[in-house]
Amino acid sequence: MTDVAVIGAGPTGIHTAYLLAQAGLDVVLFEAQSRIGDRAICSGVVGDEAFARFDLPTDPILSEIKCIQAVSPGGKKLEYRTEGPLAQVIDKGEFNRSLAQRAVNAGAKLQLGCWVNSLAVEKHSVEIQYRPAEEAPASLRAQVAIITTGVNGSLNHSLGLAHPRQFLRAVQAEMSLPPNGHGNATRVFVGRGVAPGAFGWEIPLGNNRWRVGLMTEDNPDPYFVKLVQRVSPNTDISTLKIDRKGIAQAAVGRCVVDRVIAAGEAAGHIKTTTGGGIYYGLLSAELVADVVSRAFRTRNFSTRTLGEFERYWRSTFGNELIVGYFARKLAGHFSDNQIDRFFDAANASDLLVRLNGRLKFDWHHRALLATLRSLLTLPGGIGRG
Ligand SMILES: Cc1cc2nc3c(=O)[nH]c(=O)nc-3n(C[C@H](O)[C@H](O)[C@H](O)COP(=O)(O)OP(=O)(O)OC[C@H]3O[C@@H](n4cnc5c(N)ncnc54)[C@H](O)[C@@H]3O)c2cc1C
Repeated sequence: MTDVAVIGAGPTGIHTAYLLAQAGLDVVLFEAQSRIGDRAICSGVVGDEAFARFDLPTDPILSEIKCIQAVSPGGKKLEYRTEGPLAQVIDKGEFNRSLAQRAVNAGAKLQLGCWVNSLAVEKHSVEIQYRPAEEAPASLRAQVAIITTGVNGSLNHSLGLAHPRQFLRAVQAEMSLPPNGHGNATRVFVGRGVAPGAFGWEIPLGNNRWRVGLMTEDNPDPYFVKLVQRVSPNTDISTLKIDRKGIAQAAVGRCVVDRVIAAGEAAGHIKTTTGGGIYYGLLSAELVADVVSRAFRTRNFSTRTLGEFERYWRSTFGNELIVGYFARKLAGHFSDNQIDRFFDAANASDLLVRLNGRLKFDWHHRALLATLRSLLTLPGGIGRG
């Protein structure tokens, strides 16, 4: 019997394991991959604030972002530039491994190469059934289990926990490209012909390496071919190592039952604007660790006690997920012509300068609401005919 079993060693699960081990609990962290960070498909953009807030490792940083340039379908540009770094670009595999080392140093035990098949909630424990690579199935009992399995919702479903039902489909490759002639800005491409319902990106990693990708509600592959041709007409796409993965969208319902909590992307705790899940995953981990440590003081692991987590996350970032989701959906309905007109109007009225106090890398809802108001009122804006 262990105190806590955490299933899934992405940023959410690893940080949860670290915090609970630090609080003096016995923690076992299960991961299906045989090495932490393998298959960690990600663009790796993490806001600067996150490094200070969660005391994140800096070794996995590859480059920093000081300028983001949005490009409209007609090639118009909206640029946001800061004095200091706005975000860092990390090697996500290295990042997960550094976080895991910290969790192990705090006392968490890793079970690598172990696929967790099922969780059975019983009166005095949760039984975790897992399959270690090339070994017979095994089981472990824990007082509490935390599901942090990302887009894999099988454990959620088996316990009647909600799991995101909507996904954006993402595709990405790392490429060697010359400087992009835009001050090595991170570029974000929008438009119906670029990435319907979302956007494409070109992120500098340093040494002429770039991450180029997009996410969309449609099949992303044909759009990816066009994006690669756009940023690098001479690249033979068949030579690229292309990664594909879903990104959960939309806040979900119930993420707590007796003795079990789902958190991070497994609970839809991911930015519904950009698909960034590391920041809210880490925040989610903090909230889980707080609720679970307190539950151990009273030895009460009921839905009611652990349900405090639902109230916490909704009040901390629930608004962000809801406003972000509807803003992205609304933006997906704009025609290319409307997007071009918005870029013109936003530049003419210095929208980004006016939003400055409300623009935060991980907190979008205030800036989004102000932008929606502007859409209706900017001279020549979308609301004007
Ligand atoms: C192309 C792409 C680009 C992205 N770019 C960014 C970005 O720039 N910034 C950002 O913040 N986010 C980004 N994201 C999203 C981000 O990667 C995820 O939201 C984040 O990693 C979620 O963290 P998590 O710990 O909740 O889940 P995950 O990181 O998905 O971790 C879940 C872990 O659980 C393991 N697992 C699953 N099922 C089981 C099981 N049954 N038994 C044992 N182990 C299991 C998996 O192997 C995995 O290691 C991107 C995503 C994609 C696809």
